[in-house]
Amino acid sequence: MDKSIKIFAPATVANVGPGYDVLGLALDNIGDYMELTLNDSGVIKISMSDPDLPTDPEINVAGVAARALLNHLKSKKGVTINIHKNVKAGSGLGSSASSAAGAVYGVNELLGQPLTKLELVPFAMAGETASSGKAHADNVAPSLLGGFTLVRSYNPLDVIKLSYPTSLYVTAVHPHIEVKTSDSKKMLKKEISLELAVAQWGNLAGFVSGLASSDFDLISRSLEDLIVEPIRSMLIPGFETLKEAAKNNGALGCSISGSGPSVFALCENKSVADKIGAAFKGIYNQLDINHDIHISQINPKGCKTLEPSYEIL
Ligand code: ADP
Repeated sequence: MDKSIKIFAPATVANVGPGYDVLGLALDNIGDYMELTLNDSGVIKISMSDPDLPTDPEINVAGVAARALLNHLKSKKGVTINIHKNVKAGSGLGSSASSAAGAVYGVNELLGQPLTKLELVPFAMAGETASSGKAHADNVAPSLLGGFTLVRSYNPLDVIKLSYPTSLYVTAVHPHIEVKTSDSKKMLKKEISLELAVAQWGNLAGFVSGLASSDFDLISRSLEDLIVEPIRSMLIPGFETLKEAAKNNGALGCSISGSGPSVFALCENKSVADKIGAAFKGIYNQLDINHDIHISQINPKGCKTLEPSYEIL
């Protein structure tokens, strides 16, 4: 019988305030549930729970990532990938990255783990290129590795797993409006002042240091994005109200998840995260905007293998 595996690949929050294009965190139980089966024909086949997403293996990021890894390993195998998503694509919660990370994780497991999870990052990035045209690691790295990750450098690729307080929770709200990543990228200025850069890297270093020492005040003071958020937040209805509500309900900070439109709040514990979830819901109900709320701990391990009996719907 052909070898099969069921896996989970978490959704992610990229940027995380001051860490534009370099920081990311993994969510728990929110992401892609996938079944992968190796074949000897060399063909990659994809099926998706979401009828709006492409199943062409040269367009679907899972197919592109799996192909990049199989080529690298000089394997003649193919793989059938069945993907069940519980995060909508284009939400800003790393939907395509979950599929790319899950595909390379699953194929690597089926082939007997020739590579470590860290070594899989470039192949998942190759998949991401299919969705955004650029090889970003700030979503695929946390999806593969779990926790908080820092892309210290892209050239050469240097991905660091950060220490963080495990009590942290995230509340994310996804308003069902369309923000094209290409539009939100175009809005950004190509140049910033030295003064702004100094303030931003002060916050980034403070944030990473606060995570490592579980200093919640420092995390909170540092969770500010002075460069990208002021521009991109213009595309998100009610952003200032959400941010104010997060602050008033005890969030450590609140900013845009990835390129939006999802907004996330980082919280010290679950009860704060639940309160903020209720506040976000109230705000979007009042604005009459359909939305999803995700409340989640930080996923510590990233992509993982599920029991063979696990029912992927
Ligand atoms: P998000 O805003 O959630 O990060 P992405 O930027 O990750 O959204 O990607 C969404 C784009 O990627 C869509 O254009 C979608 O068609 C494309 N895509 C290709 N394959 C997949 C996949 N397996 N899962 C999700 N999106 C995919």
